[in-house]
Amino acid sequence: MAQPGTADQPLRVAIVGSGPSGFYAAGHLLSAKEVTVEVDMFDSLPTPWGLVRAGVAPDHPNIKAVSRVFEKTAAKQGFRFFGNVTIGSDIEQAELERRYHAVIYACGAQTDRHMGIPGEDLPGSRPATEFVAWYNGHPDFRDLDFDLSGNTALIVGNGNVAMDCARMLALAPDELAKTDVADHALEVLRASAITDIVILGRRGPAQAAFTNPELLEMADLEEADVIVDSADMTLDEASAASIDEEGELTARRNVEILGEFAAKEPQGRPKRVHFRFLVSPVAIEGDGRAQRMEIVHNELYVADDGAIRPRPTERREVIDGDLVLRSIGYKGVASPGVPFDERRAVIPNDAGRVLHEPDGDHVGGLYCVGWIKRGPTGVIGTNKKDAHETVEMILEDLEHGRLPEPADPDSAAVEALVTERKPDHVTYVGWEAIDAVEKSLGEPHGRPRVKLCSRDELLEAAKNGGAEARAA
Ligand code: NAP
Repeated sequence: MAQPGTADQPLRVAIVGSGPSGFYAAGHLLSAKEVTVEVDMFDSLPTPWGLVRAGVAPDHPNIKAVSRVFEKTAAKQGFRFFGNVTIGSDIEQAELERRYHAVIYACGAQTDRHMGIPGEDLPGSRPATEFVAWYNGHPDFRDLDFDLSGNTALIVGNGNVAMDCARMLALAPDELAKTDVADHALEVLRASAITDIVILGRRGPAQAAFTNPELLEMADLEEADVIVDSADMTLDEASAASIDEEGELTARRNVEILGEFAAKEPQGRPKRVHFRFLVSPVAIEGDGRAQRMEIVHNELYVADDGAIRPRPTERREVIDGDLVLRSIGYKGVASPGVPFDERRAVIPNDAGRVLHEPDGDHVGGLYCVGWIKRGPTGVIGTNKKDAHETVEMILEDLEHGRLPEPADPDSAAVEALVTERKPDHVTYVGWEAIDAVEKSLGEPHGRPRVKLCSRDELLEAAKNGGAEARAA
């Protein structure tokens, strides 16, 4: 059989997941020189963009604007979107293998990490990932109940997700009302009684994982003072030396910014965002729900591998908290029929080529990109380079005749299969209809969009728009 990649037999690639890494991979593939490529992208949600829609905070429209790049990719010849289709249940991985030369998993890290402490699952204590999905209108999380009737929220973790959650709790309702925050969340956040948001880092200011703009934004909150204890800004010797090292610009600037916060007198605003460092949760307690947290004070030490790590001291403290959000990182989940490295919670891979096991052989025709490839780190742009690497591996395998020959590499056959299994799947035209409805709902209120937050509403909008497009 002739090598795929020609007009007669395009290189057929399935991408599982329509977030940034999947779209960057599609973009690289569809602009490959002298290779004709067809990309079918699947998502279990009726909507594309992954965390750009369901993760990026509503008050960060500039970050969301990256979807315009993805829209250009979707407009390219050879691209199709199949939303509301779950690979692994609606369609099996083995069925993709029979229809595509290559399958790329771009499914991200879909769950959260646990702290492993007593009381972690008490009502009122939740993963930040759920709070994020809830306020962003992810249909599977819209019915969660976040009780914001208490005064204090405790957020565990020093990453950008912790920053996002803190801002969402601290923003003035009028600031929020201009965004595309889900309406159900806006209503609850408007009525919120939370005045104090405490962000707990297990290490010190020099080890925080925030990026500088996200930290700086805290100073722009209209209704909240930022409180940092100046005692926390006296760094231990190893931390002080570490931020002077080359390549530690972000950490150095974080320490400067936190130092500026510490030096500033609170302005008496109605809310406060407190940064606490060198503390770890030990237990969450309360009468049938989270009401307080026992924390232990840590000290830092230089481990054998040179990393600066925390270790507990004898000193303990109990702090009140009515809402606990654990924001200690996302975690990858195994996909049926695809190898998985349980230890690292990623698909084992070599530069994007999926391996049978860590350090094992390549599973021909199977690739991965994004967080499921490298773990849940990096910003949206990090996925561009990452996807480029994976696509280069596919093109190299194509060139060397290493891609498997699928039994049925026919694009019409895929459409028939998807239609049989999921008659209510959403095409790109369907998504454009959803997009138009959401934008038109937002416009009279000066909002970028009002999100449709249930699968039924989304499918209805897609169906009506699809019918209009067919009639036109
Ligand atoms: P992250 O950046 O990996 O931060 C996780 C934080 O949790 C770290 O401070 C970590 O501390 C702490 N942690 C881990 N285990 C802990 C434990 N058992 N107890 C206490 N603390 C613990 O993760 P993330 O905030 O979920 O963000 C994920 C990625 O998305 C990051 O790359 C982030 O930059 C990106 N993101 C970017 C934006 C943006 O650009 N605006 C917004 C959101 C997310 P240690 O350092 O001590 O391990």
